[in-house]
Amino acid sequence: MAEDSQGRPKPRRRAATQLIHAASGPGELVRTVGPPVQRGSTVLVDRAAQLYDNASLTYGRQGLAAQAALCAALDELEGAAGTCLYPSGMAAVAGALLALLKAGDEVLVADCVYAPTRRLCDHLLRRYGVEVRYFDPCADAEAVIAQVTSATRLIMLESPGSLTFEVLDVPGIARLASERGVLTAIDNTYGAGLLFKPLDHGVDVSIQALTKYVGGHSDLFMGSASARDPAVLRRLQDGVLQMGWAASPDDAYQMLRGLRTLALRLEHHGSSAVAAAAWLRDQPEVSEVLCPALPGARGHDLFQRDFSGPCGLFGITLSPAPQSAVLAFLDALEVFGLGFSWGGFESLAIHCDPQLSHRTIPCGLKGPLVRLHVGLEALDDVIADLRQGLDAFARA
Ligand SMILES: *Cc1c(COP(=O)(O)O)cnc(C)c1O
Repeated sequence: MAEDSQGRPKPRRRAATQLIHAASGPGELVRTVGPPVQRGSTVLVDRAAQLYDNASLTYGRQGLAAQAALCAALDELEGAAGTCLYPSGMAAVAGALLALLKAGDEVLVADCVYAPTRRLCDHLLRRYGVEVRYFDPCADAEAVIAQVTSATRLIMLESPGSLTFEVLDVPGIARLASERGVLTAIDNTYGAGLLFKPLDHGVDVSIQALTKYVGGHSDLFMGSASARDPAVLRRLQDGVLQMGWAASPDDAYQMLRGLRTLALRLEHHGSSAVAAAAWLRDQPEVSEVLCPALPGARGHDLFQRDFSGPCGLFGITLSPAPQSAVLAFLDALEVFGLGFSWGGFESLAIHCDPQLSHRTIPCGLKGPLVRLHVGLEALDDVIADLRQGLDAFARA
């Protein structure tokens, strides 16, 4: 029986109290391969003096064991001083931009950014007094930096570009920007923390939609922003705290599970994608393949210099044709699902032209644009499916 501090037996508690306090804390845990999925809003401290100790973790929103393990893994992959987690990839983009910009600042944004990033810039950032200017993703580093003004605080990059796969000279832009005292951030979702290492190339903040390849199964949302410099990291962390974002421990655990197989999956996605892209380049219905990993494709030289390999995502332009023929191509696909997002185990396709109308600088495409994500299916089946789609396109 429990005893009090004087060794007298403690009176038995009432059922209502027993129900609340029975089997609460975990005590010491045995070690498993992965972290415990620790759920908690309240964090209990041992002594009252610790309640206001800013150096220790005092609230579950800051992330517990599973989130900390995921952050540590991402720090290692990105070569970061620290990583912040966000409830989605888009929240990570928003979080980084809001943390680094204020009214009166100017941000230069690559014209090829993910469309929702552009929506954030055009609406929320402008409403809050941030000047937004877009630059040509095909411009060289000097031409990008030539657009920097005394108000420019940040250059927002994405490479390869969303949908159109322009490869930016990220190391060159980062180096020249830092000489001018301008921060750089990149949406590194394509690189997935493995194929491209922005922080090693001088970028200040690397953002990922973990939703894509890290999750890898099209069933989770999360984003991350990793920083090299502790002062920049601090600004990101303050932003997360001020905005009140939290990432769930269960989702963080699933993201860690995804990381375990990321390299193997990317290798398969990448080699199938390049093989499919090479095959597509020889098909008469295809006017251009936008796959910088493919020798001879636009952006290949920079890609070869900066990336350690491709992922499963690339674009094609079909021969000039009415929209109905493009829809016929997509509708004839059976291995490829029609849907947004990518990075999961399955092949997906979308047509892109409705998203391109928002661009500031014409992208010079040779026909209607389709984006393909090559999944983990057998390559022969993927190619047969694409042939079936192209046959329907040719008939339409
Ligand atoms: C999907 C995606 C995002 C957003 O991620 P969500 O988790 O869906 O919010 C951001 N950037 C890129 C390049 C993406 O493809």
